[in-house]
Amino acid sequence: MRFPFPVLAKPVAAAVALTLSLPFVATVLPAVAQTNLPELGDSSGALVTGQQERKLGAEAMREIRASGAWLNDPEVNAYLNDLGRRILDANPTIRDKFEFFAMGDPGVNAFAMPGGYIGVNLGLVLLTQSESELASVLSHEMAHVTQKHYARMMDDQRKNAWIGIAGLAGAVLAASKGKGDAAQGALLGTQAAQVQSYLNFSRDNEREADRIGFQYLARAQFDPASMGVFMERLQRSTSLSDTGVVPGYLRTHPVTVERIADARSRSANSEFKLARESLDFHYVRALLRSYVGEPKTAVAFFESALEDRKFASEAATRYGLAAALLRARDFERAKRELATLEAARVHHPMIAAMLGQVLVQNEEIPAAVRHYERAIAEFPTHWQLHYDLPEVLLRSKEPKRALTSLEKSLAKRPDDVQLLELAARASAEAGYKMRQHRFLGEQYARQGNLRGAIDQFELASKAGDGDYYEASYVEARARELKREMQVARQNERRALFE
Ligand SMILES: [Zn+2]
Repeated sequence: MRFPFPVLAKPVAAAVALTLSLPFVATVLPAVAQTNLPELGDSSGALVTGQQERKLGAEAMREIRASGAWLNDPEVNAYLNDLGRRILDANPTIRDKFEFFAMGDPGVNAFAMPGGYIGVNLGLVLLTQSESELASVLSHEMAHVTQKHYARMMDDQRKNAWIGIAGLAGAVLAASKGKGDAAQGALLGTQAAQVQSYLNFSRDNEREADRIGFQYLARAQFDPASMGVFMERLQRSTSLSDTGVVPGYLRTHPVTVERIADARSRSANSEFKLARESLDFHYVRALLRSYVGEPKTAVAFFESALEDRKFASEAATRYGLAAALLRARDFERAKRELATLEAARVHHPMIAAMLGQVLVQNEEIPAAVRHYERAIAEFPTHWQLHYDLPEVLLRSKEPKRALTSLEKSLAKRPDDVQLLELAARASAEAGYKMRQHRFLGEQYARQGNLRGAIDQFELASKAGDGDYYEASYVEARARELKREMQVARQNERRALFE
C-alpha cells in the first residue's frame, strides 16, 4: 500500500497505513517503549564494527517500518533511491551501501542511521524547490555515513551503556515528529535525552558532512548552489513560523551563518554547467502534497495552483490534482484530469499508476487489470505497477493469475521484499503451501531475519505439496541459510573479542 489513508485500501500493510491518519499523529512511542530487542555490543566497550552498524541500522529500520511512521509508498521510496543512486554513480569512491526511505511526517527533517539507512520526512521534500536541493540534503546525510560519524560517536560513548535498538528507533521517531517535544520527553523519560544525543553529530562532523556532501552533489551534476539555497530557506522557514516550533532538521543540523557562508563560497568556486534534474521530482512532490490536510483542501490547493499558474510543471500539478481527487473519492473527475494529460500526450509511469488506482477504487476491476497489463508493458521498471496488478487480481479472487504475474516480476527482481510478500500471499490463497513458506522464507532472509527464514524453509519442506525439483531446492536453500546463520554468529562472537 502506498497511500497512507484509510479511504484507500491499497496493497500490503493496510493495517499499518490505517494507523497513520492525517495529520500524521502517529502514536509510535508506546510501541517503541514496549520493544524488547537485544542490545548490541556490551557495556565494557567493544569497538563498533561495520557489521554491527549494519545490524543496528537494519533492526532500527524494522522498528520504524512497523511503527507506521514510515511512508509505505513504493513510488516515493523508489524515487529517493534513484536519486541516491545518481549521487553514488557519480562518486565511485563511496563503498557504503545505502537505503533511502520517506517518513510520512510533515515536520522538516532528514537523518542518517548506522548502516546507511537515510530517512527523509515528507515535510522536508515539500520544503525543497528543486531536485538539486533535495539531492543536497541526501548528499550531506550520505557523508555522515561515509565519514563513519556514527561509529566515531558510538566509540566516544562506549563508557556509557550502549544504545539499544529500540532506543535508536525511538530517537528517530521522536526527532522526526518535530513537535510536541514536552509530551515525548515525559513519555520517554530519562531515555529522551540519551536517545536524542544519538542523532546529534558534533559541529565538526556537521562541517565535514557539508564539505564532503558538497563534493558528492557537485560531481553528480546537481546545482552546487542548492545546498546554500536550501539552508537559507530552512532558516527563513523557522523565522517565519509563528508557532515557535523549530523543525527537527534544524535541531540536529543547526543552520549557522557560517554554514551558509561556507556553502556559498564553495559553490562560487565550483564550475557549474546545467543541473541534471529529472521531472520525477515534481511528480513525487505533487503526490506528497496531495497527502497533506483534508482531501478537500488538498483538491483546493491544486485547483488554485493551476488557476494561478503557480507551478514548476503543469503536468505534475494536474497529476497532483488527480491524486487529491482520488483521496476525495471523486473518481470521475480524477479520470477526467488524467484524460486531459493523456490528450496532451503526457506520459509518465506515475500517471499510469494513478489511473490504475482510480479504476481499482472505483471498483472497475477488469478495466484496471487490462490497464495494468498495458502499463507494465509500457513502463516495465516502474515497480509500483508490478505490486498493483497482483493486488487487484487477489482482490478479484484470482490468486493463480496473481502468482503468474508475480513470478514474472520476481524473475527480474528476485530480492524485492514486497513482491516476495505478495507471492507468499498469492500462494497461500491458491493453496500452495510449499511455495507460500518458500516465498515467506526468502522475504525474511532479505530482511536479515535468518532465524525466521530457516523456520519458513523447514515448514516448506514439510508441506509436501511441491514437485521433486521444488522440494530439493527448498532443502538446499535451508542448508545454505543455516550455514549463513553460523557464519553470522561466529562473526558476532569474534567482533566482541576484537
Ligand atoms: Zn548533519
